[in-house]
Order: sequence, then C-alpha cells, then structure tokens
Amino acid sequence: MTIRLNKEKINDIRKLLSLFYTRILNSPIVHIGFLLAGIISCLVYSYNYEVLKVEIPDYIYINQKNLYIIDSGHGFNAKNNCKWKSIKEGDSCFYEYEFNKKVADQLCKLLDNAGIFYLRTDTLSDERDLAISDRIAIVNATKAALDEAGYISAGKSVVLFSIHANAARNEQASGFEVFTNIDKCKKYKDQVLCEKDMHIVATRLSDHLKLMFPEKKFRGTSKSEYKKTSMANDGEISLIDKTNCYALLSENGFYTNPVEREEMKQPEYQLKIAMAHYKTICSLENINP
Ligand SMILES: [Zn+2]
Repeated sequence: MTIRLNKEKINDIRKLLSLFYTRILNSPIVHIGFLLAGIISCLVYSYNYEVLKVEIPDYIYINQKNLYIIDSGHGFNAKNNCKWKSIKEGDSCFYEYEFNKKVADQLCKLLDNAGIFYLRTDTLSDERDLAISDRIAIVNATKAALDEAGYISAGKSVVLFSIHANAARNEQASGFEVFTNIDKCKKYKDQVLCEKDMHIVATRLSDHLKLMFPEKKFRGTSKSEYKKTSMANDGEISLIDKTNCYALLSENGFYTNPVEREEMKQPEYQLKIAMAHYKTICSLENINP
C-alpha cells in the first residue's frame, strides 16, 4: 500500500515509525514467540513517494476484536514559545501537548499491562509537532494495511482515540467533551452498522468519563452525550473527520480554567482520564478492566 507524503516529512515519519518498531519489539507482549510481530517499517521507493508497510502480530488477528490507535493530539513546537495550545503561568507555561502525552502514556501502560495491542501516531511529541495531516496519513495507512490483510473483513475494526485538553476565552469554562463523526459512515458499505458502532463507542467513552468524574460538567448535547462533527471541520477535529476508521476525540478539561488546570497537572487526575479510555477499550474487547 502506498501513501504520498511531502518529501520534507519523510524523515520525520521514518523516525517515528522506527521508534514504533523499537517500542513494539521491546514490548513484553511480543516476546512470546512473536518476534517478527509488530513491525512497522518505512521504505523509500522514489524521490517523492513513500511506502508504509504496516504489520501486526498474528495473534492480534485471532484474539483482539479491534485494533486501537492512540493519538496524543499535538507535540512540541520550538517556535511556539507559549503562544499556541498553551497558557502562560508566571515564568512557566502549560502546554496542552504535555498533558495529552501524559494521559496517553498512562493509557498505553494500562493497555500494555492488559496485553492489549495498540499503535500510537506520535511517540516523539516531546521533540516536535507532528502535523494533523501526517497523523491522518498514519492512521489511514494503518487502516488500509489492515483492510488489505483481511483484518477488517473479519468483522474487526480500527478505533482511534485522540486525546486533548480544551481552551476557552471564558476562564470559568470547564469539563469534558467527546466528539465523533457519524457522517463519514455514509462512505462505508454498511452505513447502519457503522453508525451503530460509532454511537456505542462514543457513548461508552462519555459514560466512563462521567463515572470517573461525577462532580465534573459533561458537555454533551440535548440528544446525546457526545458531540457529532461534520466533514466540514478543520484543525485538530479533522483527525476524526478525515480518518477512514472509527474515531473519537476527547477534550479532557479546560487548561484555561485555573482550578481545572491545577487538577490536570496531577498524575492521579491524568490516570483517571486514562482509566476512562482504558475501560472503554476493555468494554469493546469484552474483558474486565
Ligand atoms: Zn488539542
């Protein structure tokens, strides 16, 4: 399967994927006789094209109901200097990407301990900001590889979780939000099943966040707990609009709210958010968390 990428971005992606490679091979899941498993490698075919080859361990085809992709929103941007997706706090700065990554790291630890296989769009977010278009390319390349390998036709799906924190002009704004895009099911062969599945996944994540944080505001709509996006969206939300799989984006608190921001810095608080995502995945896998 081939995907086209800007030449400048090839090195960035290759570095990222080689890290996937190392991480997966070092993971305890793979040690048990599946040494060749979990390989993502990147080969340059010509000046302008990149071939992404994505392989997942054989046992995932048998044991796991879905393949999960964890995305931690944004990354470090040297030019940013506390001007974008961040807020000044005296001499220091609260960066959204740092919070997103900490939650994603905790989630991945929980998944590792449970032996649930997943991929991450970005493991180098402390070094640079991987563009949304590259994140979309990685997710769609993975989905295409799994389609080609017959994983999807075996009734399994790819589910993307993109983890974020929210911001607003109003300092008092607080709470959680879950977004998904049900409109994109129109592109799928089985639109009804797709809509039903997306509804289930989004409702479960919303419910688990509400259970973890009963004292917090949950920002749903009058008709559902989660919010639906449309294909017209830009920016970070386009990750759920333009990826060819089930996709959810969670906004886990407002870093522009001083009280909530203090909570968001606590590892216990981050773990609770990770736990809500983890329990959602466990429920999709029919296992006890
Ligand atoms: Zn964000």
